[in-house]
Amino acid sequence: MLASVYEDDPMQCRCGDCGALFNVPSPSGLSLKHALSAISAIECVRCDSVNVLLGQSRSWAEDRALMRSPLTASVEARASDWLRTGEIGLAAIAIHKFMTTRRKDRNDFPTDMGELRRCLLLLRRIPEWDMRIGEMRALSGEWRNVAAIWPELTRSFSRETGLEWKRVPTPKTAELLESALSKPVRRWGII
Ligand SMILES: [Zn+2]
Repeated sequence: MLASVYEDDPMQCRCGDCGALFNVPSPSGLSLKHALSAISAIECVRCDSVNVLLGQSRSWAEDRALMRSPLTASVEARASDWLRTGEIGLAAIAIHKFMTTRRKDRNDFPTDMGELRRCLLLLRRIPEWDMRIGEMRALSGEWRNVAAIWPELTRSFSRETGLEWKRVPTPKTAELLESALSKPVRRWGII
């Protein structure tokens, strides 16, 4: 397992057949042609299936099972654990970076349901940051709008996916996010 996702960014995958979650090194530095060829050769570490999906879209149960720092550990311990065991996304990294350093050099906001899910998973591990999500308004106009409806987004997501945040369609939450961003959110992927 890599020590830091900021620099090394492994690709997080899910097996479309057996559901195994695993990481593979990012093919950075390769030409696109060779990178695509390397990616298409990836097999599931558990069942050898080639039906491998990019991204994990973890449920809360899956995310919790991978955590190494309990919810009772310090914020610092859970923040550090997320770098090793969390489901990584650009918007989630922006939250993590801002909350741990107050620096504004990463300002990605959730642009699809997968990105939103990864943000929510991070904040479920660290509810102390959920309380501070309003501070993300300082990063951009998009974050200002999204942060303003964050509690509503979280409630809607939980209503649509249940307590364990199952991988099911979340059309109402997508609509809410779209209303905050004033543009369509991407709906590709397995949900
Ligand atoms: Zn498999």
